[in-house]
Order: sequence, then C-alpha cells, then structure tokens
Amino acid sequence: MTEYTARAVEPAALAELRTDDDAGRPCVPYTATEGGEPLRCCLRLAGPGERIALVSYAPLRRWAAGTGAEPGAYDEQGPVFVHAEECEGPQDSDAYPFARPGALRTLRRYDARGRIVGGRLLEIPETASEGFDKAFAEAFADPDVALVHVRAVEYGCFHFEVRRPQGA
Ligand SMILES: [Zn+2]
Repeated sequence: MTEYTARAVEPAALAELRTDDDAGRPCVPYTATEGGEPLRCCLRLAGPGERIALVSYAPLRRWAAGTGAEPGAYDEQGPVFVHAEECEGPQDSDAYPFARPGALRTLRRYDARGRIVGGRLLEIPETASEGFDKAFAEAFADPDVALVHVRAVEYGCFHFEVRRPQGA
C-alpha cells in the first residue's frame, strides 16, 4: 500500500488534450512499436501496438482551474504520453507508478496559490514505495504545501501529482 495517492491526468482534461493539447497543438496519435512509454492517463507503461500520443500538458494550470489559484509565472507545460483514445484510467495499485529503483525524480512542492515552495531530489530506493512515502510526508510536514509534482530529472517531464490528503 502507498500512503499517498498518485493522480493521473483527469478524464475531462484528457478529452481536451486528445483534440488540442495545452500548447494549442493538435493531438497526433500513433501506434507504439516497442512500448514502454509512461502513460499519464493510466499510470503504467504502454505496450506494443497501443495507440498513444505525446501531448503538451500543464498540470498546475489544470489544478488551478479547479481551485481558483493563480499560479501566474509558475505555470509550466511539458510533454506527456497518453492513450490516443478514451481509456480505462489507472487501476488500483499497491505501488507508485514509474517507480524504478535507481531512477532520479524531483518532487516539487506548491502552495495553495500555486507557487513553488521548495522541492527535493529523490533517487528511488529499492524500497520504492517507502522512499516516496517518506518524501511526501516530508513535503506535507510543511503546512503551506498543497500539492507535489513528481518529475523525471533528465527529461523534466511530469509523471504524477500528489495532493495533501484530506484532513492532513
Ligand atoms: Zn490511458
């Protein structure tokens, strides 16, 4: 079990991204040949033959639209893989997605206004879930932190979002 919930890109946002992405570019579906692309809609790797697309996604802007926050200059967008057509979404999992031991992640913290309030590097340990749990607990120990974005270090691409648990 993981202590925090990894959030995938939400279905309403996906429906829009599959027409025009958050950079205003049309979605260009293609068939994954070997697979292995990290899908942010289902929080798993693509398999060979699946129809996918690489689209530009603005996670903070999408979150802010629901909360009324104004991230201003902190808003960013970047490439994410998604299924090209409507999909099942993430299945129940007892592990964090894309948590390959040894991989490097940044955990960037945002406050309720959508401003960055720090972050840290995480080298995913062999006990990946424990490593993520500890890093999220550390982030939410700061009462100003409302959400955390997990990104790959090398490509900078957004993997998933974790929000402060209700009542915490
Ligand atoms: Zn999907």
